Amino acid sequence: MKKKLWKRGVLLLLAALFVVGCVQTEGLAPAVEAVTQSEIDNLKDNASDLGDQKDALQSQIDALESDKSKALEQIELLDKQNDVIRQEISNTESLITNYENLITQTQAELEDAERQEAEQYDLFCKRVRAMEENGTVSYWSVLFNATDFADLLSRLDAANEIMEADQRVIDNLKALQAEISEKKATLETSLSESQAAKKELESKKAELESQIAKAQELAAQIEDGIGEYEEALEAVEAEEARVQAEIKRKEQELAASLPQPTAGGYIWPVTTSKKITCKFGPRTHPITGKYSNHTGVDIGGVGYTSNILATKDGIVLEATYSSAYGYYIVISHGSGNTTMYAHMSKGTFRVSVGDHVTQGQVIGTTGSTGYSTGPHLHYEIRENGSPVDPLQYLPGYIQSW
Ligand SMILES: [Zn+2]
Repeated sequence: MKKKLWKRGVLLLLAALFVVGCVQTEGLAPAVEAVTQSEIDNLKDNASDLGDQKDALQSQIDALESDKSKALEQIELLDKQNDVIRQEISNTESLITNYENLITQTQAELEDAERQEAEQYDLFCKRVRAMEENGTVSYWSVLFNATDFADLLSRLDAANEIMEADQRVIDNLKALQAEISEKKATLETSLSESQAAKKELESKKAELESQIAKAQELAAQIEDGIGEYEEALEAVEAEEARVQAEIKRKEQELAASLPQPTAGGYIWPVTTSKKITCKFGPRTHPITGKYSNHTGVDIGGVGYTSNILATKDGIVLEATYSSAYGYYIVISHGSGNTTMYAHMSKGTFRVSVGDHVTQGQVIGTTGSTGYSTGPHLHYEIRENGSPVDPLQYLPGYIQSW
């Protein structure tokens, strides 16, 4: 009895060596933060929102740029008007100077004419006195010195003629004075009109300058606004670049984490680990030192929860239990090619015998059933019925044996 038990133990150990080959030292699968498509989709939505924000900011900047160019056009126009007014003011100032000079000149002429009149009057008075003295003009002397009435009339006539001649000279001078005064008055009117015009031009100029100042202030405000929007746009663009970089990184990460078909057309059977804890082929057991042949590879670091994927399209040949392989599945890929997935957790089969499976389809969950020292996936590929080294179809594997 005791011997039989011992024998049974050895057999089990040999079977275990044959099947497992290596001690599984891996515990649970490491906490891999897997990137998901929905995470990437969220980031893309985010990027799209940022794009919308960017468009909105750009259209505001465009609108402001248009406002700014309108304001600048307005300033240019006002500046031109201001130039014209400045020219007009300068012209009016020359006119005023001319009028002032003319008025000064006319004033001199007037004073000259007045002086001439005064002189003429003085002369007239002197002549009258002389005539009086020599008895040619005094009515009394005319009256008393006249020899007869005809002589009296003749004397009166002579006196009158002299007086009338003087009177004409004085009258002419007075007329000249009046003419000069009128000219002066006209000039003074023109001067005051020019001064009024200048005042008006200056108030127009002041108004234009205030309009220019306002337009310049507006343009400056618009410029500030543009600056603010451009800053906001830059911030959004930076954020967008950051999000896009993150999308790119995550997409690469996701692509890298997804099973990629290899040269043989196989993908990795798990996405959670690339650690190969036991290689294919002849192997010496690390504890017993016994020689064995390992017909597949062991993928460690998968824990009890990793999805097992069909590595190629095919039909399920076996989905069953054995004491050595535990719960295992064999899929036929045609032409005598099969893949095997062993030590699956109990009750996790997702397919049945005869099911068609597609590459990447989840067929079950990793575990440690059968002869196994810890959770791992025993994965085998047979071509034309003979096991081949799966490592040639497992790119990027990590050697952990
Ligand atoms: Zn194995």
